[in-house]
Amino acid sequence: MHLEVRLTSDPIPAAWPVPAAARGAGAWIEFRGVVRGEENGQPIAALEYEAYAPMAEREMRRILDELAREHPCLAARVVHRVGLIPVGEAAIYVGVAGRHRAEALALLAAFMDRLKQDVPIWKRRALAAAALAGQPGTRPGGADFQTATARVFNPPTAVAAPEPRPSKVGGTAGGETCAPARAGMVPPAGSTSDRPASADEVRELVRSLCRPLEPERVPLPRALGRVLREPVRAPEDLPPFDRSAVDGFAVRLDDPAEQFQVVDEIRAGDWKPRSLHPGEAVRLATGGALPDDGLQVLLQEDTRLEGDRVMVLRRERARNIRFRGEDARAGGVLVEAGTVLGAGALGLLASAGCAEALVSRVPRAVHLVTGNEIVPPEQAPAPGQIRDSNSALVRGFLASWGVVPVQRRLPEDAAALATALEDPSLAETDLLLISGGASVGRHDFTRRALETAGFVILVSKTTARPGKPLIVAQRGATLAFGLPGNPLAHFVCLHLYVRAALEAWSGPAARNDFTLGTLAADLPAEAHDRETFWPARWQLAGGEVGLMPLHWRSSGDLTALAAANALLRLPAGAGTLGRGSRVEFLRTDLGP
Ligand code: AMP
Ligand code: MG
Repeated sequence: MHLEVRLTSDPIPAAWPVPAAARGAGAWIEFRGVVRGEENGQPIAALEYEAYAPMAEREMRRILDELAREHPCLAARVVHRVGLIPVGEAAIYVGVAGRHRAEALALLAAFMDRLKQDVPIWKRRALAAAALAGQPGTRPGGADFQTATARVFNPPTAVAAPEPRPSKVGGTAGGETCAPARAGMVPPAGSTSDRPASADEVRELVRSLCRPLEPERVPLPRALGRVLREPVRAPEDLPPFDRSAVDGFAVRLDDPAEQFQVVDEIRAGDWKPRSLHPGEAVRLATGGALPDDGLQVLLQEDTRLEGDRVMVLRRERARNIRFRGEDARAGGVLVEAGTVLGAGALGLLASAGCAEALVSRVPRAVHLVTGNEIVPPEQAPAPGQIRDSNSALVRGFLASWGVVPVQRRLPEDAAALATALEDPSLAETDLLLISGGASVGRHDFTRRALETAGFVILVSKTTARPGKPLIVAQRGATLAFGLPGNPLAHFVCLHLYVRAALEAWSGPAARNDFTLGTLAADLPAEAHDRETFWPARWQLAGGEVGLMPLHWRSSGDLTALAAANALLRLPAGAGTLGRGSRVEFLRTDLGP
């Protein structure tokens, strides 16, 4: 990535030519962090930044380089102003060029987050309004904004909500008040649009709204499946001493004798350093510490023991030793920040003495299930009623993320939902899922109830099938999804959209994205004017991913879900696809 990073004491220009390295990029995103007129409730006239330029520049480069591994971009330009910066003027300018808008926005937002959170490169002080009164070049307090402009050069795919404003993520300028209400969410981006959004747009929107939740330190068993937020280093060489890789006899490497005197026995856990003389051998168990340097361990199978003498039947060159530090050197990174901790990683952390891992907090989730026709699965439905499938579906889906939702069934009336949305515990909730009532029918009140409760509606419908009625809304640090009640639509929306939020909250983990596979059977479908997500089963056949489309007719159909481990993406207008066609698919059997 081409980087241009510098500090300046001059004002940051209002316009700048796009750097040469950004030409040909799909998106060039510019951000200016502007000094606000108020800090901690007090009017201010200016901010003063002091920094040691070489160090600050180096640190900003380092952060950009590090973040670019996760958000690959083409170029970035950062100019930070130092000295006295009056209210209303820019303290920082960041321009990022990416192939696509999403990467550029993500890098920009992550960079501003990092700059704000953990980079002690500035001395920064606010100057009270009174202190500068009358000084030329300063404006009175009251400017309460930061600006970001996004020039998107790729085909316009504006999301239903306005462009997310990375300026809100937390600039170095303008004080704490521009930070999100709680780690995890960018504040609401603005007004509602009723334009149906595509699935990709909703996914991108969700990703742009959610930030990694704050990390917490937990014992290893609770860290499984969660994202590590700091690199864990080896406290000592691994292995910490030369160890035998086999059961056998240690002899001097330079000793060509064919039989040896066994002078000692070392088992795993023993520590018996000693010199071996020519003609001497030490019996060693696997994992036992070598008593000296310059040894070789003869395989027990290649020897014959007679009393305290060992005869060599076969001598290979292999030394059969796991040498100190050959796995990792003291101080080397064993597990990188951003790793999803699987069982193997937990074992490694334990081996390095890391008994508690710093991982992203698990989101707090509430799931409200609406519908007068719904009865719990253990109850026999009366005529007209059906059993509640969505509670189990949602619970199972969230479980792989370690999320245990608080679940409630509500009667289908606006008042019940309104009361539930007023529950003070919702302020602490990251994820609110409401099943049913997301559509525009007479009794579909999810949208109205959310609006009344102060949520900003960001998406109200999609062009995707199933899952046309879908509400995405935000209030403070809570992201709400109004999901259409049909179970198949639930399945699709959970995997397409809710998963995107869980991924973004969990930290810089690998994203689950669409990939290409081959249809293992014909997919007879009528051409549909909406992009369709079709339940399927993927399996490996002859070294290739084969995709078996599953039967469904309506989004109320459930039977396909027993076998489904993937969703096929069929573009709008795609009719029947023959066996062997290449199609995009998303795995639904993946954890974090
Ligand atoms: P709604 O989104 O409320 O209009 O519901 C759409 C369809 O999904 C209706 O046929 C509902 O009966 C069905 N449905 C709603 N909630 C559930 C649920 N929890 N379990 C199974 N089906 C449901
Ligand atoms: Mg309903």
